[in-house]
Amino acid sequence: MFRPVRGMKDLYGVSVNKYNFIIEQAKHVGAKYGYNIISTPLVEYTEVFQRSIGDETDVVSKEMYTFSDKGDESITLRPEGTAGIMRAIVSEGMTQSLPLKFMYYGEMFRYDRPQKGRYRQFHQLGFEHVGDKSPYTDALLIAMASEILGAIGVFDFKVLVNTLGDEETRKDYTKGLVKYLSRQEANLSDDSRRRLEKNPLRVLDSKDERDREICAMAPLISDYLSKESGQYFESVCELLAKCGVNYEIDNFLVRGLDYYSETAFEFKPTDFGVKDSFGGGGRYDHLLSVFGGPDVSGIGFAFGIERLMIMLDNSKFTSTPAKIAVIPVSEGETEAAFELVQLLYNCDIPAEFLHLGNVSKKMKVANRLECSIALILGEEELKNGTVTVKFMNAESGALKEKVVNRNGIINFLRHNI
Ligand code: AMP
Repeated sequence: MFRPVRGMKDLYGVSVNKYNFIIEQAKHVGAKYGYNIISTPLVEYTEVFQRSIGDETDVVSKEMYTFSDKGDESITLRPEGTAGIMRAIVSEGMTQSLPLKFMYYGEMFRYDRPQKGRYRQFHQLGFEHVGDKSPYTDALLIAMASEILGAIGVFDFKVLVNTLGDEETRKDYTKGLVKYLSRQEANLSDDSRRRLEKNPLRVLDSKDERDREICAMAPLISDYLSKESGQYFESVCELLAKCGVNYEIDNFLVRGLDYYSETAFEFKPTDFGVKDSFGGGGRYDHLLSVFGGPDVSGIGFAFGIERLMIMLDNSKFTSTPAKIAVIPVSEGETEAAFELVQLLYNCDIPAEFLHLGNVSKKMKVANRLECSIALILGEEELKNGTVTVKFMNAESGALKEKVVNRNGIINFLRHNI
């Protein structure tokens, strides 16, 4: 028996209904805020991710699906959506049209340790607003994200926000952090010791218990903020309050990718004990220029769709559209039933053509498919130009069966489904 590759899942039934619902709601809200859909390839040249996300991040150093293709090019299955979109803005010549607003959704790949809510192939839904920098933009983007959550019925969440400051802030902070971490070097994990040398900020993302204890006492970015970054963050927080966003400042929030600067945020369930976020994002000041575009700022976020799906109630996503089974009693009526099902499709009525087996088998299939009505065509019906309409699962006392004129069947169904 073949199974899906470890950490990868088949989506069907309730999960697909949930997935489609989330995307539909996000498209609706996103369109209102002026976002256009973009779909970039699932694979990019490896450098696209290496250069933007950063060599020392967990995503690049441990989690990427990187292969040599048959032409010996190093390509990578995308671990996130932002880098590919920046690449596309430049390579498709869209930089003349900045600012740009894009929504995207689809598969992402990270070679992570699979567990509940953490997969190797998962789906993200994300937004990028590229080409301007203002606290209004940040607040509106986070407000839109909160509105999307409301639209899909997720209300018990909070938005954790922090600022990573501008370049000047991060330079000063990095110095302070290195000074502190160097004193603790002997107690750090091997990974963190390497990072201390190459990219000290990434030590703060470490999942190692001892590293985390050390980082809990480390100096905070907020103590090093430049005046401009401090004011910027204050404005963002004020505007978030004006938008009615339920936010909380978290000075330890650093996000796991190198390209973030200034505003950073994550979405978490308010449910105590759930520590994993279901979405996050932030501002990136120089990302577009990494790909040869102009040095303009952008901001974006992504929700993990699987994590959103966990928060939706299964029972609301089981229903299939009210379906009609078209059932010929025997061979002699199959052709007439075939014509009838075509008529239903032409009139946009969802239907199933059940022509295999005897009548009782066909009725069983209709039940399994949760059809609400069966249209039965037997010898008698054919002779009289009628159809027998059988209401499946009709409660006692309700109309269970009715013979309807074939000419009037569409009208009848329109009034009864
Ligand atoms: P990130 O790009 O790491 O900020 O991730 C954004 C969101 O994607 C997270 O909050 C998760 O909801 C989701 N996510 C990230 N990695 C995984 C994974 N391996 N499996 C499922 N969801 C993930």
